[in-house]
Amino acid sequence: MNKITNHLPTAELQAIDAAHHMHPFTAGGELAQKGTRVITGADGIWLRDSEGNKILDAMAGLWCVNIGYGRDSLADVAARQMRELPYYNTFFQTTHVPAIALAQKLAELAPGDLNNVFYANGGSDANDTNIRMVRTYWAEKGQPQKEVIISRWNAYHGSTIGGTSLGGMKGMHGQGSLPIPGIEFIDQPNWWAEGGDSDPEEFGLACARQLEEKIKDLGEDKVAAFIAEPVQGAGGVIVAPDSYWPEIQRICDKYDILLIADEVICGFGRTGEWFGSQYYDIRPDIMTVAKGLSSGYVPIGASIVSDEVAAVLAGTEFNHGYTYSGHPVACAVALENLRILEEEGIVDHVKNVAAPYLAEQWHSLADHPMVGETRIVGLMASLALVPKKGSRAPFASDAGTVGLMTRERCFANNLIMRHVGDRMIIAPPLVITPAEIDDLIARARKSLDEAYENVKKAGLLVAKPE
Ligand SMILES: *Cc1c(COP(=O)(O)O)cnc(C)c1O
Repeated sequence: MNKITNHLPTAELQAIDAAHHMHPFTAGGELAQKGTRVITGADGIWLRDSEGNKILDAMAGLWCVNIGYGRDSLADVAARQMRELPYYNTFFQTTHVPAIALAQKLAELAPGDLNNVFYANGGSDANDTNIRMVRTYWAEKGQPQKEVIISRWNAYHGSTIGGTSLGGMKGMHGQGSLPIPGIEFIDQPNWWAEGGDSDPEEFGLACARQLEEKIKDLGEDKVAAFIAEPVQGAGGVIVAPDSYWPEIQRICDKYDILLIADEVICGFGRTGEWFGSQYYDIRPDIMTVAKGLSSGYVPIGASIVSDEVAAVLAGTEFNHGYTYSGHPVACAVALENLRILEEEGIVDHVKNVAAPYLAEQWHSLADHPMVGETRIVGLMASLALVPKKGSRAPFASDAGTVGLMTRERCFANNLIMRHVGDRMIIAPPLVITPAEIDDLIARARKSLDEAYENVKKAGLLVAKPE
């Protein structure tokens, strides 16, 4: 058999990549100049590249490889399923065993009466499903004008037309004339960047109450749902003040607004609970899941839906679905992933071992001269880079300039840590051990030190004037 690892020299691979491969979320010209890193293998929390480097992946791929790389049993299950039944659809009065078994398992794991699963291929298209689902739900209940979905600025809900529209990233809206009609936004509960002189808990309450004001402005009879990530991931691991979620839940209940929890990152153990909704004690009507559902080994996503919403939808034909909704190979692999998460006690490992230890170590970075704050929930963490210790003032340079310089040092030190603007973020595989956390923190500190020197040398250690 041809081995893919028996590959061309790195420079040739990079040249072909630059010539023919269009990368997501990447400025093409820039990348072609710098050359991409060619990842050839992985095991546990470690990546290997074509030059033989061993890289600590503190982002678990894209927040998804919860059980770590190199799990043979997922490969075995996929091969077995491909031989037995590689594909069949679930559209016209047919079903198959993997789709049934995974739906049952998700119903068991999901909180409350979230017992009904509509499959997708990832998080974006599951959120597209959600848009059509909540609007169809209200139409079926005789309130077709209840159409508006309220979201938050700087939220990330995917990159399809629907996902981009639900997301609150203005740079994404600008490409493709989005959002679609009927999406409204309130502020994110980002006290560090936007809280001004307010107390964090009061700021959290005020942000939540923007939802109430928005509902009153639009009219309760016009609003279908509110969508939010329990912890904003791609926006920079923004952790809401404690006052925020109880108030959001109160408002959704009071005005009869469906609550959609986008659990694509928070789900499957990231917070130390199975779902972020359990961490924050909220009762969503729909949860979006993807990423950790299969630990990224195959593409799969889903909407997990309450009994009430599912019962109303059952009253009509929901004209929606994807060719690969409930793909048997994806479902079989996801089931094996959930078996590993459960039987190896990985969610408990996060809660009782990895998260407390990472929190202690991560907060130790707060003494660094360029670190303003450190935040962490479970195994997702962020820190704010600041020009002036003790102040929340941002850098005078364009947002992201110093973040990118810091990420470059991480890259050089074989640590995958991302930047969002001038925040650095991590979300390592959930199986990370305390010794590996020590290694992660040592690399992060070294990278911060080097970046700090570079920022100073470049004359960028300057706060934006007020
Ligand atoms: C990644 C992500 C998505 C999009 O999922 P895809 O599988 O990339 O389509 C949606 N919501 C959240 C919160 C995400 O982090």
